Amino acid sequence: MFDTILIANRGEIAVRVIRTARAMGLRTVAVHSDVDAAAQHVAMADVAVSLGGASPAESYLRGDAIIEAAQATGAQAIHPGYGFLSENPDFVEAVEAAGLVFIGPSAGAIRKMGLKDAAKQLMDQAGVPVVPGYLGADQDPGHLEVEADRVGYPVLIKAVAGGGGKGMRLVERPEEFVDALERAKAEARTAFGNDAVLIEKYIQRPRHIELQVFGDGTRAVHLFERDCSLQRRHQKVIEEAPAPGMTPEMRAAMGAAAVRAAEAIGYRGAGTVEFIVDAADGLRPDGFWFMEMNTRLQVEHPVTEAITGVDLVEWQIRVAAGAPLPATQEELSITGHAFEARLYAEDVPAGFLPATGRLTHLAFPEGLRADSGVRAGDEISPHYDPMIAKVIAHAPTRDVALRKLARGLRDTQVAGTVTNLAFLGALAEHDGFAAGEVDTGLIARDLDDLAALPAPEPSALALAALVAAGLDGPAHWAQGFTLWQPLERSLRLSVGGAVQSVILRVDGPDRVRIETGTKTVMAERRDGAWYLDGVRAAAHARAGAVITVFSGFGTRFEIVDPLAQQGAAEEGAALTLAPMPGRVVSLHVRAGQSVAEGDRLAVLEAMKMEHGLRAARDGVVAEVFVAEGDQVDAGAPLIRLEEDGA
Ligand code: ADP
Ligand code: ADP
Ligand code: MG
Repeated sequence: MFDTILIANRGEIAVRVIRTARAMGLRTVAVHSDVDAAAQHVAMADVAVSLGGASPAESYLRGDAIIEAAQATGAQAIHPGYGFLSENPDFVEAVEAAGLVFIGPSAGAIRKMGLKDAAKQLMDQAGVPVVPGYLGADQDPGHLEVEADRVGYPVLIKAVAGGGGKGMRLVERPEEFVDALERAKAEARTAFGNDAVLIEKYIQRPRHIELQVFGDGTRAVHLFERDCSLQRRHQKVIEEAPAPGMTPEMRAAMGAAAVRAAEAIGYRGAGTVEFIVDAADGLRPDGFWFMEMNTRLQVEHPVTEAITGVDLVEWQIRVAAGAPLPATQEELSITGHAFEARLYAEDVPAGFLPATGRLTHLAFPEGLRADSGVRAGDEISPHYDPMIAKVIAHAPTRDVALRKLARGLRDTQVAGTVTNLAFLGALAEHDGFAAGEVDTGLIARDLDDLAALPAPEPSALALAALVAAGLDGPAHWAQGFTLWQPLERSLRLSVGGAVQSVILRVDGPDRVRIETGTKTVMAERRDGAWYLDGVRAAAHARAGAVITVFSGFGTRFEIVDPLAQQGAAEEGAALTLAPMPGRVVSLHVRAGQSVAEGDRLAVLEAMKMEHGLRAARDGVVAEVFVAEGDQVDAGAPLIRLEEDGA
């Protein structure tokens, strides 16, 4: 066994690996970028080594610097986490050449599964069912078009080097093929430096069901399935285990196929074999097809841990140290049901824009597993994935586990950045999802309802007004009001982009009448705590002008400064600002050009997504402040239109 391991990652997965390593009595070494110098994974590890820089290329992707750090700190093994270097066979070879152990599969096994086309060919030979399609080397657009016709529409174009849902395009009709191919290739070129694609039959009502496998280099076992059908744009949102509606026959068939896949490449460590299933046909032992294998620990591995009682990271470390498979297939079984929800810093109503910001408050309820890499006070930086945490609920039945998840999300408190908490909550309370009617199109079909921010409850608005007026604390009752005659004050709070006016009337030391527009709320203080219409006020957090009330899935209010208003509104129509930090991918206008409201001005890329910026009104472009390829901060001016009537 090793005595020291280095974790070549950051955020929640680094924290999660360190936790298990410590529980096994191992010494841990963290690596970090400059911007992560005070991050949680750094604070938790026994030793930390700076890699410098901020972007992944300058830090977490620097394999040579990471290997040097391992040697300098006496680590014998490197755990790659997921993402970054976890599926990079050259890194594995460099680690081994340096006399260290890579906690994961061999470089050869990673290479065999690295490209989707080669992996599918290999699996086909091993007798694993694969999605029908075209896997050939001939990438001539005309030839690909012919192949798409042969496969039959609708088809899916996929980057062979793809991952994270990138480089993928659904093509419904032949006349859309050429355009879709061009865009898929362009995306694949930027994201993966490889624009080769494959074509697959598009399954009409797809379910994503994947098998957790674990190998020792020769033999493998499976740890049952996860259903990851709740997806938005091919990215997983909520995952569960086991899959709803799974039959023992289908589980046995999928498990056997997954084990065959792992053994065919001499797989060592934890891996995931992803299958697609046609939900229109129900779950049938002959109705699943191999999509790809992820040769690493998966983001959603905790749901498997919850139902099997296995610590997958512990297994990874033991097997990497030379131990045989920790359990036989017969020794593994399923207990209960588990869900995982991915909590992100993102602005859902704005189109799931990635967000950044300092977390001023962060708390998770008891009784749930919360895997997080950040604490209150930490910054969600633009350089990395904006995930805040994974919230995992486990219970004896699916129904109870889902309720537990929904309740847990309601009791999760985050302030300092916008999040997708309300969206996750709406999903956890979705009737179709509760009934187990899952397929990858569920979110898109109900997107408007799921993404809408619930209107703030009058009591939440009333509480925010009380806090904004400085009346929530133990301070003197008339604090802030002494200059006001009578004891009345009006405030404006912005919530979800809409401005709400509130009037507070102080009736006595412990009584305030709060007129919210829709409702008058009576606030009364008893034993130092506020009650709104008789109900104890929710918890809240204030940071400067931002007040977050933790009722529902949390509502964020901003105190509107009456003076700052007008200028911003005037500038707003003329100036297009960057809605988030990112890179300018393309510019679609030049100075002097006329544009109409809604015209595309530029495309910005941040984290894993691209966002089109459109003209807010008709006008003539006066100035373009940026060039293609520029990195911009949130709020940076990009394009200015000439003044109205100019
Ligand atoms: P999974 O397939 O494990 O559930 P995802 O599909 O969400 O994970 O993401 C696919 C891969 O992309 C994962 O390996 C994930 O870690 C990686 N990834 C996501 N965001 C980033 C990022 N900002 N930097 C590096 N890798 C990332
Ligand atoms: P990535 O490497 O980006 O994870 P995958 O091949 O695993 O790419 O596919 C990601 C998602 O895209 C799947 O989970 C599924 O929702 C959808 N998908 C993939 N292949 C198909 C298909 N043939 N038909 C319908 N949906 C598909
Ligand atoms: Mg995948």
